[in-house]
Amino acid sequence: MTYALGIDIGGTKIAIGIMNSDNEMLCTDSFLIEGMTAISIFVKMQDTIEELVREAGLKKDDISSIGIGVPGIINKDRRSVLFAPNIPLLNDFPLYRSLRNMFPDASIVLENDANAAGLAESILGAGKNFDNMIYCTISTGVGAGIIIDHKLFRGSHLAAGEIGHMITFPDGEPCGCGNRGCAEAYAGGANYPKYIRHVIDSGRETILKDYLEAHGTIDGRALSFGLDNHDALAEEVFSKICRTIGILFFNLYKCLNIDCYILGGGLTNLGDKLFTGIEENFQKLRVGADTMEKVYFLPAHFTSNEIGIYGAALVALENR
Ligand SMILES: [Zn+2]
Repeated sequence: MTYALGIDIGGTKIAIGIMNSDNEMLCTDSFLIEGMTAISIFVKMQDTIEELVREAGLKKDDISSIGIGVPGIINKDRRSVLFAPNIPLLNDFPLYRSLRNMFPDASIVLENDANAAGLAESILGAGKNFDNMIYCTISTGVGAGIIIDHKLFRGSHLAAGEIGHMITFPDGEPCGCGNRGCAEAYAGGANYPKYIRHVIDSGRETILKDYLEAHGTIDGRALSFGLDNHDALAEEVFSKICRTIGILFFNLYKCLNIDCYILGGGLTNLGDKLFTGIEENFQKLRVGADTMEKVYFLPAHFTSNEIGIYGAALVALENR
């Protein structure tokens, strides 16, 4: 039996777990990082790892591989982050070197978090019965892990799966990446609330104005509240989200012929109506013989809280 350490680095917290080579998670822990310096984060991470190793009844030497999931693009050597827009701290944090000092003999590898999540859904989750699948997370951003023949497809520069920046409406809304009309510009939790606020400011009648006044923010829950109350603005935004993701999946299907789309991330709290809306938009685009094949749209097996640790640990085992 060998043991792997999975470390999931998120925007607000770090989650760590130990998995054995039977893909069983032995123990996990997490801590919030807001307001912490790089040094204090590493000290806390070190303490948490040592505590988990003890809890699992192991010694540090028993850990033969480490996988680190990060919300960014990884350098080719898989030892550092090329670009992590949501965690600026990561750009100059010597994560690899710090862990190498702690575990001189273990294999250590970084992975994009959506890729790691895709691996988790493929090996242990909703995609385990599919040879090919795409895990798509719709949250603050839109990203994916692409699995082909049960293996993670990383692309030439380890940046495959950045599907949130595929163009679904040419010359459309501006996206944080600098382009216009990206899927993320419509479905990303950092973007559609801006549009809703803009419409509220323009004076249009909408129940979302009441939501904003009561909660001080517009998010997925606001959208859900608006839809429950048949609000026209909520329905307009929701329908644009379903359209953009439907187009996105259709384009991926045409390019890769992958028949399984697994959805995770905060927006899936909208439930069945989101899956139905996306599938309807997808099916509308299919023509001819193509319409014969079944295509699956499934909710992720893992919760947003746990998928990162499972993914990171499975990446570690894959790289052992
Ligand atoms: Zn973009």
